Amino acid sequence: MEFLRPASWPEALAAKAEHPSAVPIAGGTDVMVEINFDHRRPTHLMDLNRIGELQEWQTGEQTVRLGASVPYARIIEHLRTELPGLALAAHTVASPQIRNRGGVGGNLGTASPAGDAHPALLAGGCQVEAESVRGSRMIPIDDFYLGVKRNALAPDELIRAVHLPRATGPQQFSKVGTRNAMVIAVCALGLALHPADRTVRTGIGSAAPTPIRARAAEEFLAAALDEAGLWDSRGPLPPSVAAQFAELVAGAANPIDDVRGTASYRRHALGVMARRTLGWAWQEYRGDPRSQSCA
Ligand SMILES: Cc1cc2nc3c(=O)[nH]c(=O)nc-3n(C[C@H](O)[C@H](O)[C@H](O)COP(=O)(O)OP(=O)(O)OC[C@H]3O[C@@H](n4cnc5c(N)ncnc54)[C@H](O)[C@@H]3O)c2cc1C
Repeated sequence: MEFLRPASWPEALAAKAEHPSAVPIAGGTDVMVEINFDHRRPTHLMDLNRIGELQEWQTGEQTVRLGASVPYARIIEHLRTELPGLALAAHTVASPQIRNRGGVGGNLGTASPAGDAHPALLAGGCQVEAESVRGSRMIPIDDFYLGVKRNALAPDELIRAVHLPRATGPQQFSKVGTRNAMVIAVCALGLALHPADRTVRTGIGSAAPTPIRARAAEEFLAAALDEAGLWDSRGPLPPSVAAQFAELVAGAANPIDDVRGTASYRRHALGVMARRTLGWAWQEYRGDPRSQSCA
């Protein structure tokens, strides 16, 4: 196995163009497991850790540009106001050791349906900045996941950053595991209220071949809030709206039975998480001055 160590982003792109099968390694918390268990034996491994810009982020007026290798620990520490949904999801990843190494670029690279960043990225509505020597492009997160552990990157492309809108309203994340920590999700749900444009977005993890959105649930909730004037009045949420939202979220899933849980348990749990996350988000919306200034 040959080890490539580009010292800059252009060098990394050139190396990836020359060796499209080279496997990038950032935190290594997925890659090293695969190599150690002999699930993967790449001819070239490309270390991205000398490229400092991948560990940096820039906070603009409307968007955060998050370098691909920013570890979860730094997202939790520095970006919980701008990206509350992603920070909550980051909190549930593994252990402090893994959160100090692993990041969103690696979660996207692996594209496991169980990756914890995905529900938050879908609910937040981000774009993935992918680049090769051929040029740069922005991939909407809705188009990124192609199949089980398959993503939209071309063989010569690398992820440079993820562009996430700054939260204009409450964001929540919930995960069910077989224990409290260091656990791969049985299923997970991200929810974001976007009062600035009166929309709702969701992300479901571990309950379909790829991370997905519950679009019918999103449309139902946004319309119900609109029709009842609740975006403005911030009145209590009718239980019937929460119940219908929960049913639609559960119905959007396409889960399987596996060692972590059954399909019917996953559907049931998603309904429960949908009701709970909506309750928490609505409670915050009713009392949060940040949301009030954006509505
Ligand atoms: C003990 C343990 C517990 C874990 N628990 C969780 C958990 O609770 N939740 C969870 O979501 N994950 C978990 N994971 C998986 C892992 O930590 C995450 O997927 C993490 O986000 C991977 O990030 P990384 O930087 O370590 O990626 P790496 O292992 O370096 O890379 C992962 C994949 O992404 C590709 N890649 C990395 N950077 C780029 C880039 N810039 N451009 C293109 N491709 C790139 C790599 O080639 C590889 O295919 C766990 C792993 C371990 C070992």
